[in-house]
Amino acid sequence: MPTEPESIKPSRSWQEGRAKTVTFIVTEDCQLRCKYCYIVGKNKKNRMNFEVARATIDYLLRERTQFPEKSVIWDFIGGEPFIEIDLIDRISDYAKLRMYELNHPWFDSYRFSFSTNGLLYGKDKVQRYIAKNRRHISIGISIDGTRRKHDSMRVFPNGKGSYADVVKNLPLWLKQFPDAATKATVSHDDLPFIKESVVHLFSLGIKTVNINTVFEDVWQDGDDGLFERQLVALADYIIDNRLDETHTCSFFSRSIGQPIGVEEDHNWCGAGKMLAVDGNGTFYPCVRFAPYSLSHKRGRDIGNCYDGIDRNLLRPFLAMTRRTQSSEECLNCEVASGCAWCSGCNYDLADETTIYRRATYICKMHKARVRANAYFWAKLENRNAGRLADVPVPGAASGHMHGQKPDIRPVQHRGR
Ligand code: SF4
Ligand code: SF4
Repeated sequence: MPTEPESIKPSRSWQEGRAKTVTFIVTEDCQLRCKYCYIVGKNKKNRMNFEVARATIDYLLRERTQFPEKSVIWDFIGGEPFIEIDLIDRISDYAKLRMYELNHPWFDSYRFSFSTNGLLYGKDKVQRYIAKNRRHISIGISIDGTRRKHDSMRVFPNGKGSYADVVKNLPLWLKQFPDAATKATVSHDDLPFIKESVVHLFSLGIKTVNINTVFEDVWQDGDDGLFERQLVALADYIIDNRLDETHTCSFFSRSIGQPIGVEEDHNWCGAGKMLAVDGNGTFYPCVRFAPYSLSHKRGRDIGNCYDGIDRNLLRPFLAMTRRTQSSEECLNCEVASGCAWCSGCNYDLADETTIYRRATYICKMHKARVRANAYFWAKLENRNAGRLADVPVPGAASGHMHGQKPDIRPVQHRGR
């Protein structure tokens, strides 16, 4: 019998928790206008110049006491980062050279990381860069699923979908990075397409699909039921076709749907421990606190590449924990584990200028996911024990699973 995976969840990122992530916002421009994109201030004007990148690298490499991490992830983001491939190449060469010259521990342990829309992936300059840095790169291409789901959201400024232009680059990407994962996002309009989209991404050869629901106030009555039905159908497909043995979908994980003990008081994500730098050299605790990501609030900077991090501005971000951001309801929630939040989104959506108010618009969607997830694991365990007929489908005549505590033990809790 095949070994049952501990969980079907996002693959752990390289050196997770042990690497300093430094995000260069190389451009605020992108060829697409995805409807759910949090980057509201796209523009061609704000692009990084090399001097800003150089000052940032010099500062990080100089301050070893302040940045004692074992490894570094030099992360490039936009907009669409590959629009600035010449600049990225120059920044990467400089980082490598300085790490070597300083005999810095990061020289043996670094990655260049990219989240891209994939449109420029096959271009000569991008391919030359990949070949040059092959052993130190991770690249995620965002594709949302089937053509109709992808094209309904990921569109060019004229409204045309981008599916065909991205999919043509997937074979090369998967040949170069066979374990590559994609990131997909679900909002209200694409709920009916979840199952077909994940199945489609698997069929394209992508083995790991990291997918999440948006945090904003978009959910309508009945969305949780539809979401749950889609996830149950997806669970059936995965298990009936034994895709659980080879593929990963982040919707299903053994670690979600449990109460969280008082001792687990971490922030969901690394905002504040990471560093983002924009084209002017201003530092932010994460790209989601940079002005171009915010719809309702001003940017929250924590210093700049010339003067370094201002500890007084950083301190409030280091105090962001589950407890300082969550309501009593969330702290006492029976299914809290895996219920995510984005600290930048919280800040943008709060009705006052605070970074400590957790937005909970996803509450009923998370509970729907917990019910479907319980079904997934129960069905998987029964299949592996040869008892498939015993698994009740959520919402079937025997009683809905609302409010039931799923019979699954936590394996581990992870940030985003
Ligand atoms: S948002 Fe809802 S599901 Fe998530 S922890 Fe809070 S109460 Fe629980
Ligand atoms: S969850 Fe939001 S604030 Fe946290 S690291 Fe991700 S984008 Fe940044």
